[in-house]
Amino acid sequence: MSLDLPLRPELRGLSPYGAPQLDVPVLLNVNENPYPPSAALVDDVATSVAQAAAGLNRYPDRDALPLREDLAEYLARESGVRLPAGCIWAANGSNEVMLHLLQAFGGPGRTALSFAPTYSMYPEYARDTCTDWVAARREEDFSLDPGRAVAAVAEHAPAVVLLPSPNNPTGTALPASTLLAVLDAARQVPGGCVVVVDEAYAEFRREGTPSALELLEDHPHLAVSRTMSKAFGLAGARVGYLAASTEVVDALQVVRLPYHLSAVTQAVARAALRHTGSLMEQVASLRSERDRTVAWLRDRGLQAVDSDANFVLFGVLPDRVAVWQGLLDRGVLVRQTGPEGWLRVSIGTPAEMTAFREALVEVAGL
Ligand code: PMP
Repeated sequence: MSLDLPLRPELRGLSPYGAPQLDVPVLLNVNENPYPPSAALVDDVATSVAQAAAGLNRYPDRDALPLREDLAEYLARESGVRLPAGCIWAANGSNEVMLHLLQAFGGPGRTALSFAPTYSMYPEYARDTCTDWVAARREEDFSLDPGRAVAAVAEHAPAVVLLPSPNNPTGTALPASTLLAVLDAARQVPGGCVVVVDEAYAEFRREGTPSALELLEDHPHLAVSRTMSKAFGLAGARVGYLAASTEVVDALQVVRLPYHLSAVTQAVARAALRHTGSLMEQVASLRSERDRTVAWLRDRGLQAVDSDANFVLFGVLPDRVAVWQGLLDRGVLVRQTGPEGWLRVSIGTPAEMTAFREALVEVAGL
């Protein structure tokens, strides 16, 4: 007898989202930080978790205020923008932060707008919150044309605009002038519009690239999302956060599940924040490795998109599936994403990038 489940029609036949998790020597496919936590950080995490463990019979601090204070302090050091803890929100990865945003500001009859190619989870947040999804286009060079972005906001009157900066999978940062134009257009949307700048990779931005945090003071409809998964090398802990006006943060508190952030997660995140100095030194070396990778790909006659992130989109390959498979056969896993003919490689250790280059020379006949 077949089981008749009342699955929502739009979910029928769908598979769960996720890149392949394969056991190969060189993992360069999900933009992780290749450096495991230092011994000092592991010790600090272990001590902090032991302390948290002694109180696990109780629910965690529901408002996670000490963590939000530490995150505010970190943002002040990182970008010079000082915010009160009430302007910070934290959740299980920035994935959950953005789901909270769509739960609060999206919903039936409302639209979320982004510009493709863009982060492939956005349409899933929209689908799961019954929000209409519109993907307008980026330009040929993957930048966002301010005039066309403003026109898209005017045309679709979205409740939420999702702007990753740097963008995944292209690595393209958003100039402040373009963001200001979108913020202005969003103000004109009847019923209001929240502009979310997803800065998951912000710490990897090149010298002179601004953070949207600088615009928060004058734009209460702006929300800037960040994560500890990338620069902090803490993808396994699942900690993301957001900076915005207290009005936005108060709205997110309404839709979160009670005690959504475990006491263990809060303890781990606070321990990692105590090691910001050494972690940011690693970020600097990943940035240099990224710039070397872009230069090498171009030297070999390929296109590589300028990147402000810890990954590089490169192409154009006549048969990207064959190149992806050839790299995998040589123990190097990259990501098939972006427009046809392009592949994305995350920046690994120098040894991993050597393995990537050697494999690519063989596979693509460079
Ligand atoms: N935003 C972007 C643009 C991303 O690429 C990712 C991770 N791949 C995320 C958000 C989510 O990261 P996390 O949930 O680990 O914070």
